[in-house]
Amino acid sequence: MTQPSNPGGKGEDPLAALQAVIAREKQAFIDAKDGRKKIGYLCNYAPQELFNAAGVRHVRLFKGGDTDVVSIGERFTQSVFCDFTKACLGSFSGNDPLYKALDRVYAAHSCNTIKRVSEIINQFVPVKLLSLPKLRALQSSRDFFHEEFIDLRKDLEKLTGNKITDEAIQENIVLYNKLRHILKKISELRKRANPPITGAEYLDLVTGFYYIDPKLALPLYEDLYAKLAAKESALTGERPLRLMMAGSVVADGDRRMLDILEGELGSRVVVEAHCTGVRPFLHSLRENGDPLRALSDGYLDQAPCAKMRPLSDSSESAGRLAQEYSVDGIIYVYLKFCICYGVGTKEFMTHFQKIGIPALEVSSDYSESDHGQIKTRVEAFIEMLNERKDNLDEQYIGA
Ligand code: SF4
Repeated sequence: MTQPSNPGGKGEDPLAALQAVIAREKQAFIDAKDGRKKIGYLCNYAPQELFNAAGVRHVRLFKGGDTDVVSIGERFTQSVFCDFTKACLGSFSGNDPLYKALDRVYAAHSCNTIKRVSEIINQFVPVKLLSLPKLRALQSSRDFFHEEFIDLRKDLEKLTGNKITDEAIQENIVLYNKLRHILKKISELRKRANPPITGAEYLDLVTGFYYIDPKLALPLYEDLYAKLAAKESALTGERPLRLMMAGSVVADGDRRMLDILEGELGSRVVVEAHCTGVRPFLHSLRENGDPLRALSDGYLDQAPCAKMRPLSDSSESAGRLAQEYSVDGIIYVYLKFCICYGVGTKEFMTHFQKIGIPALEVSSDYSESDHGQIKTRVEAFIEMLNERKDNLDEQYIGA
């Protein structure tokens, strides 16, 4: 594994330096020939602590955004699959070197599309599917998920030939708690009136959590936090419009909506209620008691995705985040044919309305064909938010 570089050393852009480390680590994953098994996982309900305790190299499989790769994946699917899962299949079939390097894939049954897709991935590399209970408040769900983790532990031991000790799991719980905590703290810098990073930059830096060895990643993020926290945050000119992005997964490589919101329309995404932004870093795991139990409970207790029931848990959690980060509006984006967030739209939009935060619902895929149409709708929404913000600011000044 590569040694820590110096992201953010004097005169160096700390975010660009982190991206260089991420690129290097991805290449190191592909090139490594030291006998350590290489695994990929789909979804945030797969426990990195356990993978790391098993001594395997591990990466999250969440590349997306490229329509050529989607077309390759489409050969295996019906058109009714979301573009994220088509891109995943396209990466396997199109021989993406990162996906080609894998010895095994672990897929959490986050939705039925992922389940079907994992059966197709099995044509390229062996897959183990982790069942995920929906009714997380039930003791029977918690016991079931614990059993799934016991089974996963055995599967990893068989794959590697190594015993996974309780001590190794415990050590990784502590390590990943620290990592989540620092990523949450970096995100919280965006609570400032003038955030030191954009939403696109936050998503880009978060990819390191899924690609870099955690022991290497922790000092890099601590250093990055110190540098960003020290950045001058005084506001000159008008305060930017603050937005939350909620909804389906935003793949590594899919920045279409962020390009419109931040690049073309000048607003700022300051928080995310989706699974590749800050949401996976809101919780921390118990550091005492049986470590495997702490792991299964902790993963069920994370800020819920729309697969969990009741769905109001997810919409309320998203609403709390929006309030905590004082957003002016919410962009709820779901991938076409997303069976979790597409069907859940009404629940989310009704809740955002109830708490008084304007929200716009957008359904999208990775093609550019609807760019103009989406931009027009988003632009009208941003205009309305700006008028509303100016009125509120005026009222505040006059108070
Ligand atoms: S939850 Fe939605 S976006 Fe995610 S894999 Fe399932 S259908 Fe696709």
